[in-house]
Amino acid sequence: APADRYCVFGNPIAHSKSPDIHAAYAAQTGHAVQYEKRLAPVDGFAAAVQAFIAEGGRGANVTVPFKLEAVKVANALTIRAQAAGAVNTLHFTDDGIIGDNTDGAGLVADIVNNAGVQISGRRVLLLGAGGAARGVVLPILEHRPAQLVIANRTVATAQALADQFAALGGEGVVSACGYADINGAFDLVINATAASLGAELPPVPGTAFAPGALALDMMYGKEPTVFLEFASSHGAVVRDGLGMLVEQAAEAFAVWRGVHPDTAPVLQSLRGQL
Ligand code: NDP
Repeated sequence: APADRYCVFGNPIAHSKSPDIHAAYAAQTGHAVQYEKRLAPVDGFAAAVQAFIAEGGRGANVTVPFKLEAVKVANALTIRAQAAGAVNTLHFTDDGIIGDNTDGAGLVADIVNNAGVQISGRRVLLLGAGGAARGVVLPILEHRPAQLVIANRTVATAQALADQFAALGGEGVVSACGYADINGAFDLVINATAASLGAELPPVPGTAFAPGALALDMMYGKEPTVFLEFASSHGAVVRDGLGMLVEQAAEAFAVWRGVHPDTAPVLQSLRGQL
C-alpha cells in the first residue's frame, strides 16, 4: 500500500525539522508514513489545506503564522485546542477536519519525562502570554502546581489568560503580573516569549530562580539563548525547546497513528545535528 501522507504548513518552512522527526517515528514504529514540508502563502492557508486533502493527505502540523487560522479551518476542536485557542495538529477524518494542539502536552512531557522534573506541588513562572504560552497553561494545571504565575510585558494579556484558567487551577493558584512585580522564587521558569528570537532577555529578576530551578526556553538552536545564559548564571538548570518540539511531534504522531513513538533516540540524534 502507498504511504499515508502528512505535512507541516508554515511560512517560512524551509528550516523545519518536523519531516526528519516524523520520518524517524515512522521508521521506528514501522508505519508507512510520508511527511513533507509545505510553504503556504500567508493569505492562502485554507486553500493549501484543502489542496493537500484533495491529494489524499491524512493530517498536518501547523506552525508560524497559521496556528490561529487553523482554528477556523477545523470543523471541530479537541478540548486542548479550545483551551489553547490555537491548532498545531490537523487530523483529516471521515467526520471532517479535527483541530488539536499538542504543543502544551509536548512541553509537559519534556519537563516531566525527559528533564525528570515534577510540576505537581511546585511554583511555576510562565513568561509570555502569546500563542505558545496560552497552549501550555491547561497541561501545566493538569499537573497541579502549587502556583502558576503568568508574567507578561503587556499585563492585560497575562491577566486575561489567568482569568480564563483561574477556576481550573484551584483557589489562588493562577495569577498574572508584570515583570516588575515578579515576587519570590520559582522551581520552574518557562520562557514562552518571542524575546529570544531577537536575542533579548525578558526582564525577569535573577531572584525568580529558586536553587536548582529548571529554566526552559521554548526556543532552540546551536547556542543557548540569553535567557538560558541568565538563568544559568543564577543557578538554574537550563533546557531549550528542542525536547518540546520532539514531544509535540510524538503527540501528533499518536493522534494520527494511534501509537506514541519513543522520543529519546530522536531527541538525541537531533541534538547532535544542531
Ligand atoms: P507570540 O507572538 O504569540 O507571543 C509573543 C510573546 O512574547 C508575547 O507574550 C509578547 O509580549 C512577548 N514578547 C515579545 N518580545 C518580547 C520582548 N522583547 N520582551 C519581553 N516579552 C516579549 O509568539 P508565540 O507565543 O507563538 O511564540 C513564542 C516563542 O515560542 C517563539 O520563540 C517560538 O519560536 C517558541 N515556540 C516553540 C515551540 C517548540 O516546539 N519548541 C512551539 C511553539 C512556540 P506582549 O504580549 O507584551 O507583546
